[in-house]
Amino acid sequence: MEKKRILLIGTGGTIASEMGDNGLAPELTSGQLLRYVPGISGICEIECIQLFSLDSTNIRPEHWLRIAKAIQERYGQYDGFVVSHGTDTMAYTAAGLSYLIQNSLKPIVFTGAQKPIGYETTDSKQNLRDAFLVAASDMSGVMLVFNGKIIMGTRARKTHSKSFEAFSSINYPIVGMVQDGRLIPYIRAESDAPTRFYETLDSKVALLKLAPGIECGVLEYLLGCSSALVIESFGVGGLPVYETGSFYETVKRGLDAGKTVVLTTQVENEGSDLSVYHVGNRIKRNLPILEAYDMTTEAVIAKLMWILGQTADRAKVAELFYTPIACDILYHRKWPSSLL
Ligand code: ASP
Repeated sequence: MEKKRILLIGTGGTIASEMGDNGLAPELTSGQLLRYVPGISGICEIECIQLFSLDSTNIRPEHWLRIAKAIQERYGQYDGFVVSHGTDTMAYTAAGLSYLIQNSLKPIVFTGAQKPIGYETTDSKQNLRDAFLVAASDMSGVMLVFNGKIIMGTRARKTHSKSFEAFSSINYPIVGMVQDGRLIPYIRAESDAPTRFYETLDSKVALLKLAPGIECGVLEYLLGCSSALVIESFGVGGLPVYETGSFYETVKRGLDAGKTVVLTTQVENEGSDLSVYHVGNRIKRNLPILEAYDMTTEAVIAKLMWILGQTADRAKVAELFYTPIACDILYHRKWPSSLL
């Protein structure tokens, strides 16, 4: 059987880092990374490009667009893609790519490492090998491969800052595993929709994590300088009712000014349900806010950037937000049409 052709796209991160006077910084190119794992050439034929060499702390939506463009321009030439990336914002970039390249029949696999590839003890080599195994398989779509787990790009979150088990799949099962060099797919994407590439994002999406006693003015400020605001509230969701200022009225003013507001939870698992408590129910019933339900905050942010890159129409924004893309949302209640 002919070997699959895979493109390795280097972007930096710990995997490619070397120690300098001021700590670790990405130095190695994707071609240099490959030399550490010569066995991979037995799995597939590989070509490399280096898009940038950044700590992923510095990777932002404009870089997501560059990664998407690089894949789009070469989509016909390869059977799969591996993107090596820093772990810190990998979940955001993987979510971003899940919206920028939809229904990909070919695997687009993000990986990285907690320890540089040149270290004696490192997860880099295993993660790279596993990523290539997935990229050369018949799995499809945007995925993140780390420590043997295969996670949907819309469901990944960095949940450990140091250990090799860095990523979890949130509110959705892992879609497969790689164990001792053997790929075990659990769930395969089932869609015959055509692959679609997008080229625009609105990066003006802000995130506010509520803290007890937070001042309403913070909300006002963020609404003023963004197209959309994601509020990570407490528990199943709600807005505080303090005597010092009305969160409800502030959100209402933002909505009246054409901003998009999404309520989600800062609790990692099981998602939001604003209807349960008075603090959430009132806002959900009376205002045209959106609710994240089981989506990750990373996916909510990327999805809003993608949606607002195409439309500002409130009904269209809501429709797209609740349309499942790459398994990003499993459950939602219909938005009351009276609020449109
Ligand atoms: N700071 C690094 C980065 O995200 C961490 C890593 O790659 O693990 O680029």
